[in-house]
Amino acid sequence: MSNKILIKNAMIINGLDDKVIKGKSILIEDKKIKQISENIKEDGMLIIDGTDKVVMPGMIDCHIHIDLGGEIDFAQTMIEEPTLMFVLRATERMSKYLPAGFTTVRINGGMDNLATSLRDAIKIGIISGPRVVAAGEYLSITSGHGEFFNSWVHIKENMTKFVDGPEEIRKAIREQVLNKVDVIKFFSTGGACDPNSNINAQEFADDELEMIMKEARRAFKRTSTHAHGTVGIKSAVKAGVDSVEHASILDEECVHLMKEKGTFMVPTLKASYKIIENKDKLPAYVIEKTNALVENCKNSVRMAYKAGVNIAMGTDTGTPFSYHGENALEFELMVKCGMSNMDAIISGTRKAADNLGIGDITGTIEEGKFADLLLINGNPLQDIKVLQDKSKIEIVIKEGNIEVNRL
Ligand SMILES: [Zn+2]
Repeated sequence: MSNKILIKNAMIINGLDDKVIKGKSILIEDKKIKQISENIKEDGMLIIDGTDKVVMPGMIDCHIHIDLGGEIDFAQTMIEEPTLMFVLRATERMSKYLPAGFTTVRINGGMDNLATSLRDAIKIGIISGPRVVAAGEYLSITSGHGEFFNSWVHIKENMTKFVDGPEEIRKAIREQVLNKVDVIKFFSTGGACDPNSNINAQEFADDELEMIMKEARRAFKRTSTHAHGTVGIKSAVKAGVDSVEHASILDEECVHLMKEKGTFMVPTLKASYKIIENKDKLPAYVIEKTNALVENCKNSVRMAYKAGVNIAMGTDTGTPFSYHGENALEFELMVKCGMSNMDAIISGTRKAADNLGIGDITGTIEEGKFADLLLINGNPLQDIKVLQDKSKIEIVIKEGNIEVNRL
């Protein structure tokens, strides 16, 4: 058997534009999409009949946390469990992604070198899983979003690197470069799930932001920031960050700046949705902070979408009650904020790949790109919820290899 695969007669959503392609076949050979055409000669390749089905690019989640698994209180888990348990749990969580149709994820920060190690373990075939774009430990100021404990609690193995002042930042980023991260992740405002920080306060000062950008760029690394409040978002966008995660409370100036600079917004609607859905089970401070954000989050997506800001799909999966493998809920939530089904799909394929800096190799169905694609028994343009139904995602191909086959 050759390593060629031919998918015939499917309706193709290529991730490039609004149009769907009908009547063409896709030839996959040597990991890549070799040809998309009406007449491809069938000579001994594996043939998949796509009649009445949809082919679309593999989904991409720009924001997950693999060392978290939806726990109510992950700080408690950090106290109770050794780091090796985190590694074992993370490895099991990675196995949820290909079956759910995700061929790429960005692990957007977390403990030690876990994300880069999972990335490399998958790359060399030790475990199977999606392509990983890896951040290192979160960079946080003292008193910032990284502070899950009061200052008298000394936990050495944290997921956060605390840095204050440009010189500490310079050193921390150089260490992460040495550890081969793909992206530098830092906190620009407080967050909802820690008891100490303020979601509206700007955390890194402007001279510190300037250093983050300078050091990251010199090493050809992209940057991603967690930001809820307007002032923190604006300062990071002005400094030149590549993607703003959550971007919960945008104003017109923010939207304008992001549009002008091409900054990506990664809304992560699933995170606050899951927290509010389980509000009776979570600590009061989490609910209080999330309540202050949740309607703003939706409104910010509406504003950004209307203005044509780059929106890339990301879920923040791993936060309370937000489980790995259920990431495609985000598409439904984006559509509820007014995005068209097609634009939601593009945000989780082409735009997501562009946001991660890998748009030249994946994110669309085009000749020459890696064959990362899904065969779906249903039409997500008619019903976006199809993407959440794993039984409908019949085939998952990553780099030309059939990873999941439910036919
Ligand atoms: Zn996050």
